[in-house]
Amino acid sequence: MLLLKPDLQSMIEISSPLKIKSHLADLKKEGKKVGFVPTMGALHQGHLALIKRAKSENDIVVCSIFVNPLQFNRKEDLEKYPNRLKEDSEMLNKVGCDLLFTPQKEELYAEQPKTDFNFGSIAVGMEAEYRPGHFEGVAAVIERFLSILSPDKAYFGEKDFQQLAIVRWVKEQFNFDTEVVGCQTVRDENGLAMSSRNYLLEESQYLIASEIYKLMKYCQTKVGETAPQVLAKECFEKLKPNFKPEYFEIVDGLTLQPIKSWEESNQPRVFVAAYLGSVRLIDNLSLV
Ligand code: AMP
Repeated sequence: MLLLKPDLQSMIEISSPLKIKSHLADLKKEGKKVGFVPTMGALHQGHLALIKRAKSENDIVVCSIFVNPLQFNRKEDLEKYPNRLKEDSEMLNKVGCDLLFTPQKEELYAEQPKTDFNFGSIAVGMEAEYRPGHFEGVAAVIERFLSILSPDKAYFGEKDFQQLAIVRWVKEQFNFDTEVVGCQTVRDENGLAMSSRNYLLEESQYLIASEIYKLMKYCQTKVGETAPQVLAKECFEKLKPNFKPEYFEIVDGLTLQPIKSWEESNQPRVFVAAYLGSVRLIDNLSLV
């Protein structure tokens, strides 16, 4: 008996910015809507959720895999960033991604990228404080991507909530027509936010890592009861035995500035960054 293979989509991989630009221009002429999901690869279910959402809202989905050197403030993080292009490509193909964009930095940044931005309060504290230059690198690459691809919609995870605020800022600042879509964080069964960096965790660290989520959930139960800064300090201390915490902050979801009382914000949100061994984990959660 002849067994027929299920029909596999075939995704096109393009690394040249000029080629993908002209390819997309042709598709747009045909009236196709383009959704874009930028990633740094080492894909997981969190990324795939963005691709699936983009797929459901557009005719064509472009995913980029580019480990952006400009957004790494520590050379060693860039060097050990997981590279799994073959597996990534297969995963993308399976979920029906149409185009994979894999630019080289020399081409993407052929023109000197802009890096002098004035983000305002959204880039004061948290990732901006602990990763100096990180958001300038993020803004630079997003500016490049949106100019090259001009997607109708671009999809970003709330996992990197402060980054999402920066992306919205870039869109406004440079008047891009692209709609920026924020998507919920995908977690594993213990609550650990999916992350490419989880590939670097040892088996025994996995369960420990979910403590971050448990502490954020605990914060939800203390809203209106324990003052935000007291609660944040308590949780920071609770992380110490197993982690090397950098920050545990309760901030307003719009300004991203710490709040002193619950009355100060109608969208309080908790943000955490902590090292587990040599792996830096970040997460955040709405407290309402
Ligand atoms: P990265 O490859 O880490 O740069 O992430 C690419 C995109 O995927 C960013 O918009 C992230 O916020 C998003 N992302 C990463 N992890 C998750 C997750 N667990 N759930 C939802 N989105 C995510």
